[in-house]
Amino acid sequence: MPEDPRRRLPSVSRLLTLTGLPANRLWVDLIERVLAKERQRLTLGGRPEGEAQLAVEVRALADATGPGLREVLNGTGVIIHTNLGRAPLSELATRMAAQAAQGYSDLEFDLASGERASRQDHLGHLITLVTGAEAAVVVNNNAGAVFLALTALAQGREVVISRGELVEIGGSFRVPDIMAASGARLVEVGTTNRTRLADYERAIGPETAALMRVHPSNFEMRGFTEQADPVALAELAHSHRLLMIDDLGSGSLLPVPGEPEVASRLRQGADVVTFSGDKLLGGPQAGVAIGRRDVIERLKRHALYRALRPDKMAVAALRATLWQSLVEPDALPVRRMLEADPARLRALAQRLGRLLKVRGVTASLVPKGGVAGGGSLPGVELTGWAVAIDPSPQSASRVQARLRQGRVALLVQVEDGMIVVDVRTLPETRLAEVADILARSLLSKEA
Ligand SMILES: *Cc1c(COP(=O)(O)O)cnc(C)c1O
Repeated sequence: MPEDPRRRLPSVSRLLTLTGLPANRLWVDLIERVLAKERQRLTLGGRPEGEAQLAVEVRALADATGPGLREVLNGTGVIIHTNLGRAPLSELATRMAAQAAQGYSDLEFDLASGERASRQDHLGHLITLVTGAEAAVVVNNNAGAVFLALTALAQGREVVISRGELVEIGGSFRVPDIMAASGARLVEVGTTNRTRLADYERAIGPETAALMRVHPSNFEMRGFTEQADPVALAELAHSHRLLMIDDLGSGSLLPVPGEPEVASRLRQGADVVTFSGDKLLGGPQAGVAIGRRDVIERLKRHALYRALRPDKMAVAALRATLWQSLVEPDALPVRRMLEADPARLRALAQRLGRLLKVRGVTASLVPKGGVAGGGSLPGVELTGWAVAIDPSPQSASRVQARLRQGRVALLVQVEDGMIVVDVRTLPETRLAEVADILARSLLSKEA
């Protein structure tokens, strides 16, 4: 009877020697997993791999097991891509976050008086300057800001909201669930497509604490629809001594066509407006609540605030982002990508095409609509340019998958069997690297 090949598997220490990896828990665990997989393969009747081949496999896995997140070059044209970390920070914001991370800072310390201060002090003034709000508080993300507002302002009481706004935003933020978790009672009014002022008015009772509006973010309603006028809605709330809460989601600080500006919602009478730091604002993950001073004070004083406060890196990066939106808005990558001149994008796509050509890859220039993403600007199409490559004889989806798996991943779209690379969301300084990655995958022999 032939010997069981599973008994001939190399030992962990043999593979450590072959790969030159040091014997720490991380690499030993990785080798054990490779050996377990090989053992299972042999159990199913597979042919044994040589120890050299197993060492190659271990080495490749070790190389992919870096200390950080894998870097992604975004060739999709989706600017605020939630799965890719949303807004890329500006250079300044990145530097400020790293500085706060690496050393000590005046995060909660007033250097003039030598006394304790609040981390909110670094942000409040800039936010009120940009938005015109009386006061502001920043927490960990916008879901947290909504949760804090509902808990502090409406726990145990009712909040009236239109059925057309009971939305789910990617990544499991559902308005009814957040409402339930906060202890506020949801009162739905109207229908999915039409809600009138009178619907809200009829729902107001002795238990009502607030009226709420939620930006539908990632979907858009067309056709036979109706929403209450925001000014009339705020007036209705105030005439019944209720609060008007407005969850804007993306919330742009500067005018962007198609997106409500944060300041305009305050002018329309909202008492508290919430939005994300890492969507159109272009900063780090954060949630901002702005509005009437007494209302914002109630959020800051609530016990939940302590559980939701932003960390020092977010405070530093958000401060830099706010500072830049006042001083040099064009330095913010999200704004640059959003407002990119189509002629410039065309020139960039042409440059990528030339870089590909010298590497033996033929690409054609195609117009391509971009989207803001992240639930921002639904229905707004941006005009831009991409390169399209015919991957045959390989299949586009195989190439697309291979592009995702390099040391630096490149995300592209596949349209009608073509690989489409949108230049809007790629760093201009790295087009040669993008061309290298594409050429390597397209001309690879292991098709
Ligand atoms: C994105 C969004 C949220 C959640 O914001 P996060 O910052 O991801 O927590 C909440 N409400 C609306 C309307 C949104 O668009």
